[in-house]
Amino acid sequence: MKALCWFDPKDVRLEDVSDPAILSSRDAILKVTSTAICGTDLHVYNGYLPRVEKGTILGHEFMGEVVELGKDSPLLKGERLVVSGVISCGGCFYCNQGLTSLCDNSNPNGWMTRELFGYPTAGVFGMSAFAGGYAGGQAEYVRVPYADSNTVHVPDELEDSQVLFLSDILPAAYMAVERAQIEPGDTVAVWGCGPVGQLVIRCCYLLGARRVIATDRFPHRLEMAQEYGKAEVFDYEQREDVVEELKERTGGIGPDVCIDAVGMEAHSSKMDGLYDRAKQALRMPLDRIHVLREAIQACRKGGTISAAGYYAGYADKFPLGIAFAKGLTIRMGNVNVQHYVEPLLEWIRRGDLDASYIVSHELKLDDAPLAYEVFNRKEDECVKIVLKP
Ligand SMILES: [Zn+2]
Ligand SMILES: [Zn+2]
Repeated sequence: MKALCWFDPKDVRLEDVSDPAILSSRDAILKVTSTAICGTDLHVYNGYLPRVEKGTILGHEFMGEVVELGKDSPLLKGERLVVSGVISCGGCFYCNQGLTSLCDNSNPNGWMTRELFGYPTAGVFGMSAFAGGYAGGQAEYVRVPYADSNTVHVPDELEDSQVLFLSDILPAAYMAVERAQIEPGDTVAVWGCGPVGQLVIRCCYLLGARRVIATDRFPHRLEMAQEYGKAEVFDYEQREDVVEELKERTGGIGPDVCIDAVGMEAHSSKMDGLYDRAKQALRMPLDRIHVLREAIQACRKGGTISAAGYYAGYADKFPLGIAFAKGLTIRMGNVNVQHYVEPLLEWIRRGDLDASYIVSHELKLDDAPLAYEVFNRKEDECVKIVLKP
């Protein structure tokens, strides 16, 4: 089959690889019908995540039709499913509480993250060895482990583009907003108007925000946030000081809730001793946390900060004292897709939630290397790219 494989930073290629096979009794093999490129894929693409093996098939946002099943799977051949990018076993302490991204069993390389963080973390499709080294879904076929726990059945009347984002970014956006505990009438500030930021804005209004103020530096993303999201927007590159801008727009008080929809970016200069050791042992990058710093400074006293962005390493100059003095609540974590997917699907069915407007490009899987280049450079007014195998 054809699959998009990572070889080196900024070197991804469409390769002929062997078809996936059933390895375990709860597995399913899916014929992929749609797959999206995520900002997290760009962290891999750019070489910011450690221990990505050469030849890894990328992609954790995908859906498709069942073509083969393990002997214990309750799923049906031909069934149309959206797959959760973060893998859960469905049976451990964490999965039973809906905290599926903290699954104890789904990462065969959990010992690596145990060494790094003290605990194993869940497996993720198409990422580094730290996330289990699973082959991803930017391919014609994909193996889904624990398929009964990691998929949701898609009704025939819904298009791929309406449900594809249930695989990751829609539940991720929803979870970040839910955890921000917005009260009716709140003002929310959102950093980043990429795909997750766009959906965060929508979810803020669904969960009771009165005002959403969003910032980014790309005009087409700000326009989308304004037009579809009904957010007030500003370009942070055109402002002296984001914190002052947000205070000015909120009568000097600051937003009630601040949401980081940007996440990590590798940092090359500042490193402390711990980072040095971790980096040496594990090649971990230092997270760039300027958004979190700004959020802590801008948020009103007693407010909440919620991170939808992805972090993987250590942080430098975290303004802990300011967060403490202001009595802030800070929430974060990888997305528990399985916990949110059913209620979100119901909203989509009822027509109350449509995420398909964020798709700016639909391309063939054959064009995936070009798609990565365009997405990485934010060229061609790119917001979200969907690939069709
Ligand atoms: Zn993603
Ligand atoms: Zn589990």
